[in-house]
Amino acid sequence: MPDIRIYPAAIGHPARQDEGRSATGDGLVFEGISHAYVAANGSTPVLDNVSFRAGPGEVVCVVGPSGCGKSTLLNLAAGLLRPTAGRAYWKGREIHPGVNPDLGMAFQQPGLFPWMTVRRNVAVGLTTRGSSRVEANRRADEILDTVGLSGFGDAYPNQLSGGMAQRVGIARALALRPKLLLLDEPFASVDAFTRLKLQGELKTLLSLDKPTVLFVTHDVSEAILLGNEIVVMSPRPAAVRTIIPIEREDRDRAGPGYARKMTEILKHLGVETNLARD
Ligand code: ADP
Ligand code: MG
Repeated sequence: MPDIRIYPAAIGHPARQDEGRSATGDGLVFEGISHAYVAANGSTPVLDNVSFRAGPGEVVCVVGPSGCGKSTLLNLAAGLLRPTAGRAYWKGREIHPGVNPDLGMAFQQPGLFPWMTVRRNVAVGLTTRGSSRVEANRRADEILDTVGLSGFGDAYPNQLSGGMAQRVGIARALALRPKLLLLDEPFASVDAFTRLKLQGELKTLLSLDKPTVLFVTHDVSEAILLGNEIVVMSPRPAAVRTIIPIEREDRDRAGPGYARKMTEILKHLGVETNLARD
């Protein structure tokens, strides 16, 4: 079953984005966000007083242990969940459940519609928004070309490798030129080599349209490569452990800055970095 949640913001209730204007400024802002999932057998606290922001055009990566609440944070940013406490803002307006036309999302499972061609999977969001079929297909082919999939427009999702399907998922999110892009471990199910290539491609794509990006990953090297800032979360209920700025020179995997940031982040995550003991 395709996971329709990944679909770029075409679902939801009537928009209420105009309410709750605040002085928090532009970009994506989390202000004292706490969240607990409530079930019949009790409540699971997941996020604990989380505050940080991603300024316009910034890429903020969120790293943290599995199950700490990273996807929950993305769902809050997408307006798919309401926080138990605190507020989230996009462009100075409180995020409420509903349609955010600025939003694009890609999750770990690309969730492509299996009965549609690759081109149609990418184009369908554009036609939903009123583009003509010809124009939507043209844009789909253009973005497929950019993610290295020219020639695959007529293929069906079951004819693609995992890495190619991931690219289609990202292409679909980017086709709408989202101003806010939420990525939840989009490369988690591809092999290490493909992943390195996709990271480079995504970096190029982000430098073209410059959306504000919240990027969840458990891959610290990916976070350093793509992020302007890295938010390191503690185990559940997750609080912000630290926020680490990344400079351009830190992205050179062979350079000293990269090693320093890597060590710093892994320490915050409680991972021993020097195994050269014998
Ligand atoms: P992460 O993305 O960091 O791995 P999640 O945000 O997916 O973590 O989940 C955080 C915690 O909340 C986990 O313990 C998970 O089991 C729990 N959780 C996630 N979604 C739900 C839900 N809909 N109902 C109840 N518990 C949930
Ligand atoms: Mg997750």
